[in-house]
Amino acid sequence: FIGLSHMPALTSVFRDMTSIRFEHPQWIPENCTACGDCWTVCPDTAIPGLVNDVSEVLDTVVKHLQKAGHKLEHLPKAARQLESKLRAIFDEAGDKGAVRPMISEGIAKTIKDSSLDDDQKQVLRKEFKLFEAALGDFQFALSRPYYSVPEGKQKNSGGLLSITVNPYTCKGCMECVAVCDDDALRKVTQSEESIKGLKQDWDFWLELPTTPQKFIRVDNLEERIGALETILLDKNVYGALASGDGACVGCSEKTVLHLFVATMEALMQPRVEKHVEYLNDLIQRLEKHIQIKLVENVDVSDTDAMAKVVQEMSNSDLTLSGIAGRMEKLQGTKPIDQEWLRRATQLLAKLKNLRWKYTTGTTGRGRSSMGWLNATGCTSVWGSTYPFNPYPFPWANHLFQDSASMAMGIFEGHMAKMADGFRTIRLAELELEGKYNPAEHDPYFTYFNWHQFTDEEWLLCPPVVAVGGDGAMYDIGFQNVSRALSSGKPVKIVVVDTQVYSNTGGQACTSGFIGQISDMAQY
Ligand code: SF4
Ligand code: SF4
Repeated sequence: FIGLSHMPALTSVFRDMTSIRFEHPQWIPENCTACGDCWTVCPDTAIPGLVNDVSEVLDTVVKHLQKAGHKLEHLPKAARQLESKLRAIFDEAGDKGAVRPMISEGIAKTIKDSSLDDDQKQVLRKEFKLFEAALGDFQFALSRPYYSVPEGKQKNSGGLLSITVNPYTCKGCMECVAVCDDDALRKVTQSEESIKGLKQDWDFWLELPTTPQKFIRVDNLEERIGALETILLDKNVYGALASGDGACVGCSEKTVLHLFVATMEALMQPRVEKHVEYLNDLIQRLEKHIQIKLVENVDVSDTDAMAKVVQEMSNSDLTLSGIAGRMEKLQGTKPIDQEWLRRATQLLAKLKNLRWKYTTGTTGRGRSSMGWLNATGCTSVWGSTYPFNPYPFPWANHLFQDSASMAMGIFEGHMAKMADGFRTIRLAELELEGKYNPAEHDPYFTYFNWHQFTDEEWLLCPPVVAVGGDGAMYDIGFQNVSRALSSGKPVKIVVVDTQVYSNTGGQACTSGFIGQISDMAQY
């Protein structure tokens, strides 16, 4: 990797920021209003909000114990009884109160009301002790947006909010504490004990499933309708930038870039899911279409011939090829159009390969949601502090100023690949509709490119993004930006404008105010 100047994706997950901070935030769940400001502002993706159904939380603990080798006799069943006890306790509490004491109360009630005999209750008591130990100090909140409002609409639909500090990426900037107006996050001095607690909570967070879609209160992300901070409750969306990189403590440009990549991830995920469903359907229809066409020469309505064939084959297995062979002998045969068969089966193979690229691909994670060209500057320095790469998608840096030009070139190559996929889909659709006409369609698809994409196809194209600071984009790099703008190529350009040259000490730049004093332009 060093020789090629490459860094594998997401290597920053192996970094640990514990030793660079002296303090970390502590969540006070009973004060939390679930406003989402803390997990939105955190530059280091280190304080994710998560909402889980009560059953998901209980199942996670049971599975954790089973995975650890505990043989649980009564707990899996008792967890269901605990869930209904907890719902009743939560309903009484409304959207306030510390959840952990309520869980202990629910456990006591479940054991007391259990129909098990005394010996069995003793075993259950021990199993619940393991349950509470596995949960450790992990905290939950009953919040208005995620518990009482959904409960008001539909019984048993409210979820538990958790806000957990990632001890491996938190740099201790305390921005989360600063934005919390409800005294629900406090700064605490880090100690051996607190690090142990953070790590135990984080391990449990990793085991919890992601937030169910029903809690992501966005009706239409494409139309920007809904509570946008709730998209960050999805673990994949929140983790679209992994952190563990070399950015300064409290780096605000990282917050901005995190929100940008998270939004792209949230937009792309449902589009790709829908597209994969469509591909599945198209593959099934094309397979059936080929099968039907292959056997359509056999006239099954000729009942006399069919009865004769069945009679002839009465002493052997009745197979499709056997029937077809005999029917052809009786009725005469019409050769299969080899050109059609070659084209149709190739289309089928290409569709399956396309589906594989979306769902699995060479990385095992399917297709990336975007590609990123970074101009040299702060963002490239912290984003590629060797060997830590915080991005789960293709990322490249070349010279100081040319990210917009690079994006244009990569866009063309990337769109040629997207065109391959859309060409295959369109040809399969024409085949199924019986409308494929080589004279008309072959020349069209030979030169098919992104200019001919439909709006729906466009939305499936992972964006190619050029990122840079004000120096790389407005000053030395403006030639590249202006060329990209005049080219009409739909690349995205993000300018992280800090109004000074931050990476080189703070010189004045185009986007600074006239007369602005900066570290290295004092007069
Ligand atoms: S202290 Fe800073 S890095 Fe840590 S969770 Fe809060 S905002 Fe994130
Ligand atoms: S901890 Fe504070 S900032 Fe975070 S969601 Fe709760 S109330 Fe909002």
